[in-house]
Amino acid sequence: MNELLVFVCDGAPVRGEIVSISTAWQAVLERRNDPPVVRRILGDFVGAATLLSASLKFDGTLIIQAQSKGPIQLLVVECKSDLSMRATVKLSVDPSEISPNATLGDLLDASNSGRLVITLDPSEREPGQPPYQGIVALQQHRGGKLTPVASAAEAIGLYMQNSEQLETRIWLTSNDSNIGGLLLQRMPDSGGHTHLDPQTAAEGWTRIQTLGETITDEELITLPPETILRRLFLEESTENGVRSFPPRKIRFSCRCSRNKVADVLRMLGEEEVQGILEEQGIVETICEFCAKPYRFDAVDCLQVFKTDLLSDATRPPSSGH
Ligand SMILES: [Zn+2]
Repeated sequence: MNELLVFVCDGAPVRGEIVSISTAWQAVLERRNDPPVVRRILGDFVGAATLLSASLKFDGTLIIQAQSKGPIQLLVVECKSDLSMRATVKLSVDPSEISPNATLGDLLDASNSGRLVITLDPSEREPGQPPYQGIVALQQHRGGKLTPVASAAEAIGLYMQNSEQLETRIWLTSNDSNIGGLLLQRMPDSGGHTHLDPQTAAEGWTRIQTLGETITDEELITLPPETILRRLFLEESTENGVRSFPPRKIRFSCRCSRNKVADVLRMLGEEEVQGILEEQGIVETICEFCAKPYRFDAVDCLQVFKTDLLSDATRPPSSGH
């Protein structure tokens, strides 16, 4: 099951999403070798990325990045509006040094250097127009004290609070075979198709949240979205109406290419690349998202810098043949 289900409530100003990811998530994991605690955090963020990108109003990519000076130096999940996704983690320590009981706060140094960056990048961006980016620290005020966030869901909640005008609740869970997630979002009381008086709307939002809170991690990770929707909102559906849209497919897909690697080599510069060639005979790199290897030998590298070589004034004119 790699599915995302969107639903709307007729008796409450609520739009919801339920996600269940299995083989697409396994495709991410089989290319990686992260410790279990790191996989849990990555899985939760993959769930979050699919939930957030399903509400993108444009064709583009949603990127979740968590970065810190802790053991997880960088975590990146990218999900396009067609729900194709890829994910990677960069650790600053050897995986064996990570405690099996480490929390998200420990791994992402949430009390100090940890940051969550969410970028919305439209595929048809005007030249010079920057992508939308929101950044939050991974800690929040609780009882007059700053506390590190405990989970990906909490981190995303914090971001939503800071950047979205719409109240949002999110539940996430993952293991090595599945990811499950639920998102509830309060829509504006007026406008769109909703026409609820303020009191009915407020009560409706509270009622749907209360129903959402009854979800267990076990249900979220084992049941198909349709079953979760039926179980959670059966009474709501009968009494007030809950409508769902055809489920959307989620898949793993990497956007790496030989051309993009060539661009990286150009950025490194010819001198640097020549140095690697002299030392290793070949320039080799592995895509950090899908582990696909890319190899450039001396002839390939020459090709990469061909334009520069030709424009080089010191180079004798080509004899041509
Ligand atoms: Zn790749």
